[in-house]
Amino acid sequence: MATPNEHAKISASSYERWIHCTAAPLYEVQFQTDNDGGTPYTAEGTLAHSVCELKARKQFFPDKMTTRKYNAALKKLKTDPFWNDEMLVTADFYVNFLRETANQFETMPLVYLEQRVEFTDYVPEGFGTCDCVMIGGDTIRITDYKHGKGVPVSSVNNGQMRLYALGALAQTAVLFGDKIKRVCTAIVQPRLSENVTEEWLTVEELKEWGKTVVMPKAFQAFYGFGTFSAGDWCRFCKGKAECRARAEYYAGFGQYEGMRVEGSDKSIGSANEATTLPLTLSDDDVGTLLMQAEGLMAWYSDLQEYARDAILAGRKIPGWRVVEGRKTRAFTDADKALDLMRNAGYDDAVLYEHKAKSLAELEKLTGKKAFAEIMGDVITWPQGKPTLVHENDKRPDYSSCGPEQFEGADNV
Ligand code: SF4
Repeated sequence: MATPNEHAKISASSYERWIHCTAAPLYEVQFQTDNDGGTPYTAEGTLAHSVCELKARKQFFPDKMTTRKYNAALKKLKTDPFWNDEMLVTADFYVNFLRETANQFETMPLVYLEQRVEFTDYVPEGFGTCDCVMIGGDTIRITDYKHGKGVPVSSVNNGQMRLYALGALAQTAVLFGDKIKRVCTAIVQPRLSENVTEEWLTVEELKEWGKTVVMPKAFQAFYGFGTFSAGDWCRFCKGKAECRARAEYYAGFGQYEGMRVEGSDKSIGSANEATTLPLTLSDDDVGTLLMQAEGLMAWYSDLQEYARDAILAGRKIPGWRVVEGRKTRAFTDADKALDLMRNAGYDDAVLYEHKAKSLAELEKLTGKKAFAEIMGDVITWPQGKPTLVHENDKRPDYSSCGPEQFEGADNV
């Protein structure tokens, strides 16, 4: 367990967590391990960032990043077990965006890549690393590359990006003084969408946000007198499986708070009143419960993972065991197996399947833009199944009129 003297680590990337749950940073200290950040997804993301950085250096600093150096560095990156050729395509997309961004300045801006920034005026010991900072005229632009394709990340109202911007402003104040008046943050997430989200703010708006929204919470979080609060932001918390606050949020009667009592405008305020709930749920109740159930499923899966690891480590979790999962047969030697089938009189024609690659695999080969040019005439959008989503989802409402309604929609 963390001691009161230990300082919590308050990074820009964990902003969503500590701004909502100010107890999280100090609580998480006890779960830090040498392997932190070591999942296959983070390893893949780190490699993709290195490819982006390399290509950006070649674009903006060709004197330093000569073709020879570039080729040698790329060759080395390609030996990484997480290498995927798609990274070349997504890095090109990122660098194209940076080039277009630089062209929007009246004169060539100063460009900083993989720039560590500190925003300690707002967050004690606050720091982060910006993928790209450009500064020129009265404008500073911060761009971040996201390799993940599971969760869309927008730059609008994005605390991490705003903190980067505050840090970059502080860092460049020596050179630019108060000449910078406008800030733009952008997130490039090419595996999910070709649309880059941007947020424009004045420097005053950004600093005001830093003072009023960030500072009070950051001080609570850093000095360890914050409060627990569970929600979506628990997803990346290091102690999410063991956290009692999260367990109470999902498993306790607290989940009924805020529901309406039948025939009354009053809300239910405490667990004891739960017995006065109507027998059936209202549509409003269903909406609220669906939101909570999403987090509940994630929490359940975290508990399962925790219990499995605990049992494998020799501890007891009452009521549970770990057994071997379903087995599937496999050849010890696939070549030998096919030889045996041939010897038994079966032709290669029936032993092998000749299959075309999928649309997505072919698109990876060419890149999105070239693929649309080459294949545009032979691509159709069959109508998708009715799918329940959050109300702020960007897709249009479902219509049974037919696929033409959806032409040009994002392939999400
Ligand atoms: S799991 Fe959620 S509630 Fe618990 S400390 Fe982490 S962020 Fe806070």
